[in-house]
Amino acid sequence: MNSQQLFRRSRLRLAAWYALVMGGILSLSGFGMARALVQANWVALEREIESIAGTLHDSLEPMLPPSEDPTEVLQQILPDLCIVEQPCEPNPSLIQRHTLGISDRTTYYIRLFDDQGNLLAFSTNQPQPLPDTLNTAPWQTLQTADGPRYRQFTTILHSAAHAHAPGEATHEHPSWGYLQVGRTLAPFDAELQRLRWILIGGFPLALGLIAIASWALSGLAIQPIYQSYQRQQQFTANAAHELRSPLASLLATVEAILRLPPEQAAQVPVLLHTVERQGRRLSQLVADLLLLTSLEQDTAAKPPQPCCLNDIVADLTEELAELAATTDIHLSSQILDTQIYVAGYESQLYRLVSNLIANAIQYTLPGGSVVVSLATHDRAATITVKDTGIGIPAEEQNRIFERFYRVNSDRSRKTGGTGLGLAIAQAIAKRHHGQISVTSEVGNGSMFVIQLPLAAISPSGQQGTTSSPFR
Ligand code: ADP
Repeated sequence: MNSQQLFRRSRLRLAAWYALVMGGILSLSGFGMARALVQANWVALEREIESIAGTLHDSLEPMLPPSEDPTEVLQQILPDLCIVEQPCEPNPSLIQRHTLGISDRTTYYIRLFDDQGNLLAFSTNQPQPLPDTLNTAPWQTLQTADGPRYRQFTTILHSAAHAHAPGEATHEHPSWGYLQVGRTLAPFDAELQRLRWILIGGFPLALGLIAIASWALSGLAIQPIYQSYQRQQQFTANAAHELRSPLASLLATVEAILRLPPEQAAQVPVLLHTVERQGRRLSQLVADLLLLTSLEQDTAAKPPQPCCLNDIVADLTEELAELAATTDIHLSSQILDTQIYVAGYESQLYRLVSNLIANAIQYTLPGGSVVVSLATHDRAATITVKDTGIGIPAEEQNRIFERFYRVNSDRSRKTGGTGLGLAIAQAIAKRHHGQISVTSEVGNGSMFVIQLPLAAISPSGQQGTTSSPFR
């Protein structure tokens, strides 16, 4: 499986997991909320029925006639109800009175039974056909043949004569009868149906959106890993390429030495010098690669120490003056009298500054000059390496810090460069919480500026800045 396929498969797997988890959470919370909504509606509906039944119960009880022949009296106290086996003139104002402001009168119905369970009276809007027999269960849900459901509440009635004191056993004073209050569940069922449709329609839509979002999110998550993987691949390829050329020429030289006829033995030391040079170049390349890797891994065995930049710049200018002189370049330095300290690793800081000075000398034509200056600016130490060299084209200035990148490969290779010098310099600057910037113009020279945060206190007690990058 190639890397493209591997990353695609990983992205797919990640997206699937995202979708599964998000979909699971969403469906759980969606169904949970729907259930809570239905439950709340149901409880409110039952409370409403119960409260109407309670009001009716309390108003009726004191007026109830003796149960022997209730019909006549009932007609007087409940003119709004139809009495069983008597002609009925609908006048549902009783229900209307008790449910005023809560619901319309067609929603509720009431029924009265005697204590034997015989239907005595009923409101005209009671569901048809509703059994005339009594079921004494307090709560019932009924469904008529043509569809709508009803919720019904049944409560016992005691007439004033039969009303018993609290704590008195009910069987000694039988009840007068039963009051039933019910209501249609049509609006509730319609709401339930609507909610069902919203869930049925919304769920696949939400899942689709989650799938798209998961794919996009997994792409975002995997992108940095993919880029880092590609950089590693590129680095390995570049390193192999850089190692191949000197190795090939080294092997060719060794072969030439082995094939030399005895009479040409005088040439052996010359050829061995070439082998040594190529070996050194290879060894330098490997050392640079190891240094770069260790800098990026950021695993320091020792804690950072205060390093005097004045000493580093002065030492390097002195050391490299000879190299500059061999190519007729004037190397000079401008260093402040004040001692400037940064917290870090001295050997790395030497490497950082020397890489920039060596580059300036390398890419400046004979007769030119290189100036190294050290100053402080805004809580940072600033080292500037300015040359009058060949300059760097504007479009290349961002790329020169990449590993193995050379502006002009052929010429850089001739000068012995590996394309790792600026990458190492930048890694060291970053390690010291600093940065490098470049301004350059082709034909007019370049200026590299290193900025490093000052150490809090210098060893001589001199005050630097208040913050140290290393803690
Ligand atoms: P090299 O080992 O090739 O010098 P570096 O990483 O040090 O690699 O530099 C990368 C490239 O940047 C060089 O190949 C060179 O083309 C360009 N460069 C670096 N410093 C200078 C400079 N002072 N003047 C002009 N070009 C420079």
